Amino acid sequence: METITLPYITGDGVGAEITPAMQTIVDTALYKAYNGTRNIRWLEVFAGERAFRQTGTWLPEETLKVFEQHQVGIKGPLTTPVGEGVRSLNVVLRQSLDLYVCLRPVRWYRGISSPLLHPELVNMHIFRENTEDIYAGIEWEAGTSEAGKFYRFLHDQMGVANVRFPETSAFGVKPVSREGSERLVRAACRYALQHNLATVTLVHKGNIMKYTEGGFRRWGYALAAREFSDELSEGRLRINDCIADAFLQNTLLNPTAYSVIATLNLNGDYISDQLAAMVGGIGIAPGANINYQTGHAIFEATHGTAPDIAGSNRANPCSLILSAVMLLEHIGWNEAGALIENALEQSFVQERATLDLARFMPGGTALSTSGFTKEIVMRILGKYHA
Ligand code: ATP
Repeated sequence: METITLPYITGDGVGAEITPAMQTIVDTALYKAYNGTRNIRWLEVFAGERAFRQTGTWLPEETLKVFEQHQVGIKGPLTTPVGEGVRSLNVVLRQSLDLYVCLRPVRWYRGISSPLLHPELVNMHIFRENTEDIYAGIEWEAGTSEAGKFYRFLHDQMGVANVRFPETSAFGVKPVSREGSERLVRAACRYALQHNLATVTLVHKGNIMKYTEGGFRRWGYALAAREFSDELSEGRLRINDCIADAFLQNTLLNPTAYSVIATLNLNGDYISDQLAAMVGGIGIAPGANINYQTGHAIFEATHGTAPDIAGSNRANPCSLILSAVMLLEHIGWNEAGALIENALEQSFVQERATLDLARFMPGGTALSTSGFTKEIVMRILGKYHA
């Protein structure tokens, strides 16, 4: 018998509803797929409001230690504490484990309404760099002495003469490194090969930001040529690039042109939301933050805490459930993941879903979070009757 201990954070807001739903569905799929020979021992760790209520800190050291020790975990959405100088808990978690890839697979499930004519053509996997770019948080507010000092440095020492309104400008810094770009592109290329996905596309704004975004492009091509020369020459892997604005347009006009997308942090943010909208929106988009060198990975609901619907048994648990499917695939328990995906798709095809999805289905039936969860459990067990 194989049992893995899986740390999890319930999360704030709708986390209290979607996390137990996800656990029930995963446990059912494991039982059905492996008949008790593969199990998860769920280990709750605390972060966000729950942690603050219990321990007085938003992200206890213990939580970081447990994730570090167990390597793989899963989390619901977390509230960002309000206040000057308090950082997003998601960002702190990612940075403390150096989870440098934000992976978002984007595919369409039959039955889900989409603004596209052919959503079935969408099969893209976004590798968003998670540790650099403007997310490093290096910026100064307009009118502060720091902004003034920074401007004087630019002007006096760096010869910068084209800041249009220096007195009222805020400033930000965008660090992008060769190492950071290379490890991201390496992970994307390996993933493409493992999943038989032909092309890695480097998406960037190198035409405007020549050394940061342009550097990412150059380092990405060079890394691929150096480390994947056989795969490239044998045609098992292709690498190309696209300017970010054209890319967003092309994904709508010609989605089959793209499979694995490697991009910097801010581009990745925009791209993730657009691609999610193309196949059903954030309620159903899964994601993971991964360090492929150490093996650390945290799978997560990609939406926020949805305070407007929290506690009303209306939240869609699919983002977290599909993140758990990614986790099961990550540890090689694919059969259980496939059972879950099939059960969800059967439900969507019959137009049965939570309100956020059901309202766009022509004959949709809106189910509560708990009602939807029960139905998925019955479908996995092969006991669902309409
Ligand atoms: P936060 O401050 O935590 O980011 P938010 O409300 O600003 O929360 P989201 O939680 O991402 O941002 O929610 C945006 C909108 O999408 C809200 O109207 C919310 O109700 C809806 N939404 C988000 N997640 C879900 C979900 N799982 N099921 C249904 N609706 C959702």
